[in-house]
This record gives sequence, C-alpha cells and structure tokens, in this order.
Amino acid sequence: MIPFDFEYHRPASVREAAVVYRQLEEAGKAPVWYGGGSELISMARVGNMGFGAVIDLKSIPDCRLLDNSGDEVHLGAGLTLDEIRRSEKFPLLGQTAGRIADHTMQCKITLGGNLASTIIYREAALPLLLGDATITTGGEKGIKRYRIRDIFRDRLQLPKREFIVSTSVARQYAEAPYFHIKKTKNEKIDYPLITTTALIANGYLRIAFSGLAAYPVRDEVVEAILNDQSIDFERRAEGAAAALAGILLEDMNGSSAYRRFVLKNTLVSILESIKDAQVPCIR
Ligand SMILES: Cc1cc2nc3c(=O)[nH]c(=O)nc-3n(C[C@H](O)[C@H](O)[C@H](O)COP(=O)(O)OP(=O)(O)OC[C@H]3O[C@@H](n4cnc5c(N)ncnc54)[C@H](O)[C@@H]3O)c2cc1C
Repeated sequence: MIPFDFEYHRPASVREAAVVYRQLEEAGKAPVWYGGGSELISMARVGNMGFGAVIDLKSIPDCRLLDNSGDEVHLGAGLTLDEIRRSEKFPLLGQTAGRIADHTMQCKITLGGNLASTIIYREAALPLLLGDATITTGGEKGIKRYRIRDIFRDRLQLPKREFIVSTSVARQYAEAPYFHIKKTKNEKIDYPLITTTALIANGYLRIAFSGLAAYPVRDEVVEAILNDQSIDFERRAEGAAAALAGILLEDMNGSSAYRRFVLKNTLVSILESIKDAQVPCIR
C-alpha cells in the first residue's frame, strides 16, 4: 500500500503536461513525471519517495512515436520496452529491452522511465549512447532537442520541469551489425553483472556497458584501444579492461576483479566474432 494520497493527471499534449506540472508545483504538490510507474510505486510503497501528484505521459501522442520512415528511427519515451522490442525498429535496443526484468515488467516499464531511473543500470541508454541519439524533451519552453552525450553524463540530467518526449537515432546506427551480451550472477532474469552492447559503424567498433560501473559507460579511449589493429586481441582486451579498472563496481553481484575477468573474456569473444565475420551476433 502507498502510505500517502496523490493526484493522478494524464495530459493529452506536451503543452498541457508542462502547464499541469507548473500548476501542481505552484500548489505545493511536488509533481513527478510518470511512465510505467513501476519504480515510483515500489519506492513510494517502501517510503523511499513521496509526491503529491503524478503526471502520466503515456497519452501524449508525441511520447508514443514509433517511426523509421525517414533517415532516423524515432521512439517515444512512453513506449514500453516490450513495444520497442516487438517493433524491430532498432534491433540492438529491442534486444537490450528484451533482457530488462521479466516479460510482465517489460510490458510496463517505459523507455523514458528506464532512462530516467534512479536504479544504476539504465540499460536502454546503452544503444542510444552508441547511436549518438538525440533526446527530444518537452517543457514550458516547448520542444527541445539535445545530443545524448550532453544530457546523459552517467545519468539523465534534464533541466527541471522538462521530460523526455522521444529519442532519435540515425538509421545508419539503428541498422548496424551489433552485439548484446548480458551476464548475470545467477538467474537469466536479473540485474546485470555486466551488460555489453556494441555496434559496428563504418568498420569501427563502438561499445558501452551497464553493471560494470555505478552508471552506464561508453568510453572513447576504450574504443580506440579495441579498434587498434596493430595489437592482438588479448592485448586490446587487457588494455581496455585496464583503462576501465578505476571505475569497476564492487558489490554483492561480484567483485571488481571478477568483473574485470568477465569483461576481458567478453571483449576477446567480441573481437574474435568480428574477425570471423559472425556479425550480427546476438547472445
Ligand atoms: C523487477 C524489476 C527488474 C528490473 N530490472 C532491470 C534491469 O535488468 N535493467 C535495468 O536497466 N533496469 C531494471 N529495472 C529498473 C527499471 O528499468 C526502472 O525502475 C525504470 O525506471 C522503470 O520504468 P517506469 O517506466 O516504470 O518508470 P516510472 O516508475 O514511471 O519512473 C521512474 C523515474 O523516471 C521518471 N520518468 C519516467 N518517465 C519519464 C520521462 N518521459 N521523462 C523524464 N522522466 C521520466 C519518473 O519521474 C521517475 O523518477 C528493473 C525494475 C524492476 C521493478
């Protein structure tokens, strides 16, 4: 049971959402944006969060965008992970979404909710980081577009009162050969020990991780090492693991030394698959 009362609002447009947010804030209701509600409700139930109103974004048509008819793939923040997977519009994101929580939760969790989550994994951010995505937001000043690298530094850093409307990725990246390897401690359905996502764009390997550190990671130095054709795979993987050593997570899922071991093996396996032309490779 949620131990406090709150208002529920379901605006039909970006503008209406911004206006309602402002009104609720001025009324001292401490409003929050609401996607699938799974995190908000579970945190409220255990007393880790309080709010006087939620603003459900799922009836806003712009937040339900699902389109790849032009040069970009556009995905609304109000789409569920399951809708994204079934759409097959961005296969790497679909594969990633299909390994977050279980299928029942995938039908609830939204793209926007995963990106804005306080839980450290935010796995849906990985394919978007690899694809140099654009994040479209809504708020009092209307629609704005940001490069993901400018507003997703470790976690989503949106200006106050703005919400994610949709994400866009060039088709060149959305349709690129890719890898998705999620390693968990025990069960197949669990938070990641390490999730590794990668895509190959113009012959260059791009790579990003969740579970490795306390935030999703894409690192250009690591990519340069992995793409260095002058050294063998073992040394490239060792070099990349060494470059990331300072941020490796140490928690009940695994020690930093174990994560480094798993990381190195995963990297060697990806490099060997590329050499053997086994891409796209889905695991
Ligand atoms: C059983 C379970 C297993 C999980 N496993 C994984 C996992 O393996 N990997 C992983 O990455 N995550 C995992 N998660 C975390 C999950 O992805 C997040 O909790 C996510 O926030 C839930 O999405 P939601 O749409 O339900 O968010 P909500 O509960 O609606 O919102 C979460 C946060 O996002 C904000 N928000 C929502 N939509 C928007 C928007 N459009 N713009 C701006 N802010 C917004 C809300 O204000 C709130 O702060 C798991 C969660 C559960 C419950």
